[in-house]
Amino acid sequence: KPIVIITIGMAGSGKTTFVQRINSYLHSLDPPKPPYTLNLDPAVASVPFEPNVDIRDTIEYKEVMKQYNLGPNGGILTALNLFTTKFDQVLGLMEKRADEVDYMILDTPGQIEIFTWSASGAIITDAVASSFPTVIAYIVDTPRTTAPATFMSNMLYACSILYKTRLPFILVFNKTDVADPAPMMEWMRDFEAFQEALAAEGAGMRDGDGDPTYMSSLMNSMSLVLDEFYKELKAVSVSAYTGAGIPEFFEAVDATREEYERDYLPELERAA
Ligand code: GDP
Ligand code: MG
Repeated sequence: KPIVIITIGMAGSGKTTFVQRINSYLHSLDPPKPPYTLNLDPAVASVPFEPNVDIRDTIEYKEVMKQYNLGPNGGILTALNLFTTKFDQVLGLMEKRADEVDYMILDTPGQIEIFTWSASGAIITDAVASSFPTVIAYIVDTPRTTAPATFMSNMLYACSILYKTRLPFILVFNKTDVADPAPMMEWMRDFEAFQEALAAEGAGMRDGDGDPTYMSSLMNSMSLVLDEFYKELKAVSVSAYTGAGIPEFFEAVDATREEYERDYLPELERAA
């Protein structure tokens, strides 16, 4: 059975570029392993790869906006909801191709919350994950996440998605051509290094008397929560631009199959 890769990440983190890159990487292998690709972003202007399934083929989100009198976010969410009502057909298409491909890749809407905090996103994720081994690729915009506090809030977001889906999870530090994720990798390994970075950032961490502020103690206790989270996941560094780190990404993906079978499937069977 193929492994399904669901890409999730903040707007602009590089999900679509990453999907394009892993798609072309799989095509370039000898022998090639062309994946089955699905675009779930109704609002993307152009998709830089040729998706097998494209939400835009069935739903015109600008029409949805007009028809239901919605803003852009409402339009995108409603388009995704309409698409989800037919997702059993999509799953049927995926099942049909399951013997021919090693990977199936889902690109999700730019704005992260449209997929992660909607009923549709949950329905699609659950439907896919109950049919195929599935992994979440959480794309991190490395150059935008170099400040410790920003890094932490991004990780808390990732953490909430991990605990919500319970699926195998890979943190993908993208854009390594412009920023080095080594300090962040270090923060994940070493709690004290992270605390030092937070302290060095300074602002708001000490009050007039030199005592730790509310913000600083909140940060510290949050980072303890994250310490547990880091133990549960794999992290890889990539550049969707240059292709650096993509083979390592697939090593991490392949290793999650076992994790899916060991941790996720039994949960699924218990719930059934
Ligand atoms: P999405 O909203 O998550 O799908 O992000 P996109 O794939 O549309 O990318 C957002 C922006 O980041 C675009 O301008 C991309 O060209 C840029 N980008 C994506 N990946 C990389 C990368 O690896 N390196 C650099 N320097 N820029 C990237
Ligand atoms: Mg995109």
